[in-house]
Amino acid sequence: MPERPAGEAKLPPETLYLVIPCYNEEAVLPETGRRLLEKIQQMEASGMVSEKSRILFVDDGSKDKTWELVSQLHEQHKQISGLKLSRNRGHQNALLAGLMTAKQYADMVISMDADLQDDVDAVDRFVAEYYKGSDVVYGVRSSRATDTAFKRGTAQGFYKFMQALGVDIVDNHADYRLMSRRALDALAQYREVNLFLRGVVPLIGFPSAIVTYERHERFAGESKYPLKKMLSFAFDGITSFSVKPIRMITWLGVLIFFASIIMLLVLLIQKLFGYTVQGWTTLMGSIWMIGGIQLLCLGMIGEYVGKIYAEVKQRPRFIVDQLLNDME
Ligand code: UDP
Ligand code: MG
Repeated sequence: MPERPAGEAKLPPETLYLVIPCYNEEAVLPETGRRLLEKIQQMEASGMVSEKSRILFVDDGSKDKTWELVSQLHEQHKQISGLKLSRNRGHQNALLAGLMTAKQYADMVISMDADLQDDVDAVDRFVAEYYKGSDVVYGVRSSRATDTAFKRGTAQGFYKFMQALGVDIVDNHADYRLMSRRALDALAQYREVNLFLRGVVPLIGFPSAIVTYERHERFAGESKYPLKKMLSFAFDGITSFSVKPIRMITWLGVLIFFASIIMLLVLLIQKLFGYTVQGWTTLMGSIWMIGGIQLLCLGMIGEYVGKIYAEVKQRPRFIVDQLLNDME
C-alpha cells in the first residue's frame, strides 16, 4: 500500500470523503458499505487519512430502500454519512450535491459509483497522488473488457467527438476521481445549470494526475444508464442543454436539405426528358435547398438561444432534504 512521502510523514493525516451517488441501489448498498468501510478503516489505521474521514452516500431520490439502508449504516458506523436529495436529479447533480457537502468537512474528496464497478483498491493510489501534490486525480479505465462492444464503441466515439469539438476531456475517465478542497471551491464557481463534470473539471486547472484501474462488472442490480439516458447524457455533454423543439428544427433542416438534393436529381432528370416548363427546375431546386438551409440555421441559432435561456433561469441544481453526518 502506498505510504505518505517520507518528508511529510510528520504532518497529521488529512481528511478524506468518499462521495457515492445512489439511485435505487438497495441491491449493492450493503456490500458497497462493507467494502468501503473496510477500506477507510484500513487507511485510517495506516495513518493515510484522518479519523474524521467519511463515506457519504447521496440518495438521489431513490424509490426503493436505499435511504433506509443508508440511515441504518449511518447508525451502525460513524464513518458512514448520508445525504438525501428531495427528488431524483440525475447522476451529475447528485454527485455535485455530494461534492459540495463533503468539501465543507474534507481536505480531499473521491467520487465513485455505488455499484463497485470502480476498483476500490485504487483509492490508495488516488490519495498517494494527492499527497504528492495533485489537486485532481483522474481514474482512467485500463480496459473496457467488461463493457459490451456497443457501449465500448459508442463511448469511445463520444470521447473522440468531444475532443474533436475542442472540449478538453480525459479519455476513458468517468466520474471516479479525487478532488482537493481547493479544486472543489473552484468547481463551485462554475454556476452553470447543466453541469457536465467531466468537461468542467479539466477546465479548473491545478496539478493533476492519472491513476489507471481495471473496471469490473456491476456487482448487483441494473445499470441506471439505459441507452436512452446514455444518449441524452452525451447530448447534454455536447450542447450542455437540451432544447428539444429547437433541435428538431435543426434535424428538419438537415432532412429537407438532403431531400432537396434528391429533389434536385429528380428535377434534373425531368428536365432532361423534357417534362418541365421553363424555370420550373431552378425554382423548385431553390425552394427546397434554401428552405433546408434556413431551417438548419434557425436551429443552430436556437441552440444558442436555448443556452442563454438555461443560464438566465438559474435553477437550483439540488435541494437537500436531510443531512446525516457524525462530525466532531
Ligand atoms: N445514479 C444516480 N442518479 C441517477 C442515475 C444513476 O445517482 O439518476 C448513480 C448510480 O446509483 C450509480 C452511478 O450513478 O452509483 C452510475 O450509474 P450506473 O452504474 O447505473 O451507470 P453505468 O455504470 O451503467 O454507466
Ligand atoms: Mg455502473
